[in-house]
Formats: sequence, C-alpha cells, structure tokens
Amino acid sequence: MSKTTYRRLQYELKAIEQDGLFKRERLITSPQSGEIRVSRNGREQSIVNLCANNYLGLADHPEIIAAAKKAMDEYGFGMASVRFICGTLGLHRKLERRIAEYLEMDDAILFAAAFDANGGVFEPLLTAEDAIISDSLNHASIIDGIRLCKAKRYRFENNNMTHLEAQLEQAAAESPRTIVIATDGVFSMDGTIANIPRLRHLADRFDALLLVDDCHATGVLGPQGKGTAAHFGLQADIITGTLGKSLGGAAGGFVAAAQPVIDMLRQRSRPYLFSNALPPMLVAGAIKAIELARAGDDQRAKLRQHARHFRQGMTDVGFRLLDGEHPIIPVMLDEAQAAQDLANRLFELGIYVTGFFYPVVPRGQARIRVQMSAALKTERLNHAIAAFAQAGRELGIISAKARKTL
Ligand SMILES: *Cc1c(COP(=O)(O)O)cnc(C)c1O
Repeated sequence: MSKTTYRRLQYELKAIEQDGLFKRERLITSPQSGEIRVSRNGREQSIVNLCANNYLGLADHPEIIAAAKKAMDEYGFGMASVRFICGTLGLHRKLERRIAEYLEMDDAILFAAAFDANGGVFEPLLTAEDAIISDSLNHASIIDGIRLCKAKRYRFENNNMTHLEAQLEQAAAESPRTIVIATDGVFSMDGTIANIPRLRHLADRFDALLLVDDCHATGVLGPQGKGTAAHFGLQADIITGTLGKSLGGAAGGFVAAAQPVIDMLRQRSRPYLFSNALPPMLVAGAIKAIELARAGDDQRAKLRQHARHFRQGMTDVGFRLLDGEHPIIPVMLDEAQAAQDLANRLFELGIYVTGFFYPVVPRGQARIRVQMSAALKTERLNHAIAAFAQAGRELGIISAKARKTL
C-alpha cells in the first residue's frame, strides 16, 4: 500500500524537478548579515547576502544577543507549556505591551510565527454571518487563515481599489455583521506598498475593519518604522506582524489591535491556545529589537539609499525590475529556469540570491527577489551589480551592449 504512495511522490518530485521548480537549500556557516559565509565545493567562502529579511541588520546585533542570553540564564531554555496553562512570564506581557505601544494599539498577542497569527486571527472573530475581502496577492498564511473561517469570502485584484469597492458593494448587499478587508502592507514578492489611504477610506465608508499584515513593513516604513499605515499617517484596525524579519530575525508573530479583538483571540485563537509559548530568549531579544528598530532612523535612511542605488545600477545594465521604493527589489526573469540559472551563476560569483518561481509566484513570473539590508556596504552592492551584469550577459538575459562599467 504505502509503496505505491512513495512511488507516486517520487514521480511527482521528478516532475517538479523537470519543470525547473525544485528548491534546494544551501548551507550557511555564519550568523546572518550583509556578508555571510557559505560552504561551496567543500570550501568556506564569504558571499554578499541579498536575500535575507534582515532589513535593519539586527539579526546578529550584540545587544539583542546579550538580552537573549540574559533571559536564558534567568528563565531557562523554554516554557514547556502553552500560555494559558503555565507558559506566561512577565516577559511575554512586557513584549505584548511594547508591541502595542509601538504600533499604537490597545494590546497585542504573541504567536509562534506570523504564519500562526494570520492562521488564527480570522476564525475567532468571524462566522458565516460575516465577510472577508482579501487582496489576491496576500501572503499564503492569510489565505489559509481565511480558509479556516466560515465568513463569506471575496477577493479583489492586487491593490485594485476600484475592484475592492465593487466587492465591498457586493458583500454589503448581503448585510453581513462584520466586514474585514485583509491586505499585506507590503506585498512580499513585488515590494509594492498597499494603497492604505484608499483602503482606509473604503473601510470607513463600509464600516469595515482594515487588517494589514505588516511583516515586510514593521521597522522599515513610517516614522520609527511603525509600518505601512503610519507611512501614510494613518492607522489600521488590526496589524499582524513577525519577529522574524526586521525585528531581530529570530521567530515569532503577533496581532496588535483593539482590546476586545485581542481578548477574544486569547480565548479562542487555536494557534495561540494549542501551541507552545515563545521561549524567553526570543521574547527578551525581541523587546531589545523593538527598542533598536524604533531608534533606527540611520538604518532606515541607509536602506532607502541602498535601494535607490541598486535600482539605478541594475536598470543601467539592462535588467527589468518591478518599480517601487521598498527594499524588496524584484529582478524579473519570467521563466523559472532562468531565475535558477542566474541565481546559481551569481552564487559562483560571490552573490547570494534566490530564484522565486511557482508556486511562490504565478507561473511565467519567475524572478530573483533582491532585498536590501542596512548591514550591506555600498561597495559590496556595486560588486553585486557588476556580477549581475556579467552573469546576465553570459546567460543572454541582458544584451551584451549594456556594458556600463561601475
Ligand atoms: C514572512 C511573512 C509571514 C510569515 O512570517 P513568519 O513569522 O515567518 O511566520 C506572513 N506574512 C507575510 C506578508 C510575510 O512576509
């Protein structure tokens, strides 16, 4: 019986490989930073890292490491419990209050990951009498979270506010109790920023709650890095976020919102109730990371400067980028194999990037998603642009004429 199952899986894996869609994981041998060490052909070497979510460069910050070590000494390795049984330390509440204060919300609730925050945020708040209207490019975890909830589902084309308005009208016609509009603050594959002014306006007009997943925006956009809505001087009703990107890059997620929302999630959210409390070292590290992120104007300025510089350099040598201002910079290659080949060649040239293709992005829209970090140095970025140009010419992705030297 199981033999046929294993054979089928092997056959399906082969097909994934033949389509150029097989993902291989490379091993890195150093802390996460602007330059990392990797093992290649049995030799360790240094490589420029252009694909971490380490926007502010906090992943190896000595003050965060010290805070985490101190918490481990004080509170041990792990909680061995979910929060409501015997897994809540003062530290957990402190981090929740710091997140709420940072994002200007009543309260916040921690999850093991943002994936869980999004997976557990809809079902406790909404039933079949309610409606969710979701952006078509929302993160997989929002899609899954919505699937787990009985609310009526509507989808609008990515960042298309005319389509959203039409969907809102359709939803409102059925007189739902509650309408939630769900969007990523920054769309992770494109780096585009959600149209918060229109989203806020439409949410208010239809008396809907605006939920923003700000995983790629917390620490990056807005004053003190308060996120996408703050970037526009506005506020969302529910913010979901991660501790695994700008805020130290370890792990953990959260929801920040009005008190009744957080109180209900604490009673009913399944990934919160049925999954372990975050370990003390992560919590203490995240508290320090938020402090550093809030004070990180220099890092944010550097990020913006790096993004402008890299976009200009790559456009000059002939690559096709998606427009934007976020430190996510997608280099469009369309075919999965081209994205894989370019990433592999760049790896040989000392540049670490990853090809993104189906099912992470739609078929035919394969790309290399480059991400800036405050931990990167301008001279290393120039090296990266030159390597992109060389590899791009070798592989026939850019024309040999585009030979602007750096
Ligand atoms: C990374 C990401 C997540 C998942 O975050 P984790 O904390 O790693 O689970 C969720 N939503 C978006 C938009 C993300 O970019």
